[in-house]
Amino acid sequence: MSRTDVFDLSRMRLTPGEGRRLDLEVELQPMDFGGERYDVAETPVPVRLDVSRMNGGGYSLRLRFAAGLRGPCMRCLREAEPRVEIDVREVDQPGAAAEELDSPYVVNEELDLAQWVNDAFAFALPAQVICREDCAGLCPVCGENLNEAGPEHHHDPEPDHRWDKLKELKFD
Ligand SMILES: [Zn+2]
Ligand SMILES: [Zn+2]
Repeated sequence: MSRTDVFDLSRMRLTPGEGRRLDLEVELQPMDFGGERYDVAETPVPVRLDVSRMNGGGYSLRLRFAAGLRGPCMRCLREAEPRVEIDVREVDQPGAAAEELDSPYVVNEELDLAQWVNDAFAFALPAQVICREDCAGLCPVCGENLNEAGPEHHHDPEPDHRWDKLKELKFD
């Protein structure tokens, strides 16, 4: 496998109706997420690319890969490693009027694979990076990790000293 950023589709010399499957490797970029920087769990990442030459000209493309991020859980700050599986398609027909038939990743039969992979990864990620679905987060009072502290962790409400003076009053 070789690392691929831009892939020249014309080099495959596909005839209309013909298709080919390619296993490639693409570099994933670290990401900023909710003000935190997240590293990619592994990079380069292996990707599977299916290329079909369409009968009317142009290409139909399918991209599949799995990848993950590594960084702090947004609730409890422990290390989290969300993984996503990606399966996306693009179509590029020269001179197509419709936007969905004119892939932004294909220009002059050159596929910007690195851009497509990084965009698809960012799009597939969950809105929140959490270590696990039921992460309990941190105690808002003392900051202890509630996943470890358990459900019995609690704080007694602060005693209200405003009433102390009243208690000292004697009523006859
Ligand atoms: Zn967590
Ligand atoms: Zn606490």
